[in-house]
Amino acid sequence: MTLTAHISAGSAVAVATGNPVLGFFAGLISHHLLDAVPHSDLGSLGGNIHNILKDRKNLLYVFADIFIGLIVFIFIAIKIADFSLVFWSVGGAILPDVIDNSPFWSVRARETFLGRYYHKLHETVHFTITNKKYFYLGLLTQLAVILFCLYYVFIKT
Ligand SMILES: [Zn+2]
Repeated sequence: MTLTAHISAGSAVAVATGNPVLGFFAGLISHHLLDAVPHSDLGSLGGNIHNILKDRKNLLYVFADIFIGLIVFIFIAIKIADFSLVFWSVGGAILPDVIDNSPFWSVRARETFLGRYYHKLHETVHFTITNKKYFYLGLLTQLAVILFCLYYVFIKT
């Protein structure tokens, strides 16, 4: 899923747990649960860690996602008013993609035993919609996740 969806889920996890350590691990679990939901992401557009920096369309997608995700993160951090809780919960929620989907270090990380194993696990529980006919359906599943999580944060704080 997009960074924005994972940040939103991490925010909801922060509110649900109320504890940075629990939030971190629950955020980590939320990442893989949400990746299993059919969705459209950079992979739907043919993007991957090898070509992400070479294609302007991929870069635009990534920077838009980072920008929107950052706005959501700042909004939630202000709303919850406990930066440590939000930081660790959101950190857990985005960590798998930071480790496994970065164009800067993931190629090397995947060459290690642990990195290769983790990449395999990450991909196994990942459902990217690759059929362009259903691309927008995959965006809708993420929009639903984002709205549900932000609504949860909003009503609980
Ligand atoms: Zn992921």
